[in-house]
Amino acid sequence: RLYLDANATEPLLPEARNAAMEAMELLGNPSSVHAAGRAARRLLEACRSAVAEAARSRPEDVIFTSGATEANAIAIHGIGRGRRILAGATEHPSVRQAAPEALIVPVLDDGRIDLEALEALLAEGPPSMLCLMAANNETGILHPVQEAAELCHRFGALIHVDAVQLPGRMPFALPGLRADSLVLSAHKAGGPKGAGALIIRPHLEVRPLMGGGGQERGRRGGTEPLPAIAGFAAALAHADPDRALRLTLLRNRIEELTGAVVIGRGVERLPNTSCLLLPDVPAETQVIALDLAGVAVSAGAACSSGKVAESPVLRAMGLERQAGCAIRVSLPWNAPEDAADRFAQAYAAVRQRIQARRVTINH
Ligand code: PLP
Repeated sequence: RLYLDANATEPLLPEARNAAMEAMELLGNPSSVHAAGRAARRLLEACRSAVAEAARSRPEDVIFTSGATEANAIAIHGIGRGRRILAGATEHPSVRQAAPEALIVPVLDDGRIDLEALEALLAEGPPSMLCLMAANNETGILHPVQEAAELCHRFGALIHVDAVQLPGRMPFALPGLRADSLVLSAHKAGGPKGAGALIIRPHLEVRPLMGGGGQERGRRGGTEPLPAIAGFAAALAHADPDRALRLTLLRNRIEELTGAVVIGRGVERLPNTSCLLLPDVPAETQVIALDLAGVAVSAGAACSSGKVAESPVLRAMGLERQAGCAIRVSLPWNAPEDAADRFAQAYAAVRQRIQARRVTINH
């Protein structure tokens, strides 16, 4: 079987598995004062330092969470509180749902945030916080985060960046992105499911969503999920620097071999992601047919219910009519060398079968 759904979740890196398994054996709660607790605390703080180093931030500015959904919610309610929230039109549901009142900043036809519209909104007034994803999970299209950050800062606004899709693929350092805050998710980086981080610039105030026992310097209550955090830190530390180039070559080969319409072709995109459009063929039909052929891809964002909905991301890009006809092919870190050829073969067979059936029906 061929797994090409890395943007939903990356396969576990061996180093992440080992680190998580070792942490699983640690008895103590990091908040306990006895020796077992102190051992757990030492591991937790070592992981914090590793994550901080990967994001070029300070350990005390890393807040561990259960994942990116929670980290986005803490950013919106705990940093953005009292500010007007602006959100890009193609943000992940974890942002849209946490900020239903957000003013939407449109994207251009190429899927990138409209900086002129952003400037106009920022100039209007009240202190704001912009939520902008660095890379879109469905199309892989990269937003001009640094330019957006510059605009935000010129108008006294903050910028919160969802960088979930970057690790292992693109640089994601907080200072490089000029972000005030950043979120990462362990399982999108080759770590286990169940951990994430909100990383802030120094001295930014964060109010907790759940205060609980005062963990994470009072910014996120609840015993830290140490095995997942240990796997997360190991995954970030062991990202292969040659991976991006290898994935880019495979991605380009997929696009060449299939000859499909590629959403965002010509725009800067993640090295592992292709959003392929097959006009008038529902994405669900394509995903199921490919699954039967042994290839796992997804239609737009995989939502928790597993049902395939039309992509609001493509609709925001003005592709209303075809919003339900695109699939996402996202290469994992361990994609085999023949992944592009195998995918193209399966895709061609599926396309042929669907089109043949249509001709039969039409007659
Ligand atoms: N943000 C983006 C861009 C994502 O792709 C995802 C996962 O689908 C999330 C946030 C949510 O991540 P998590 O599964 O860690 O809650």
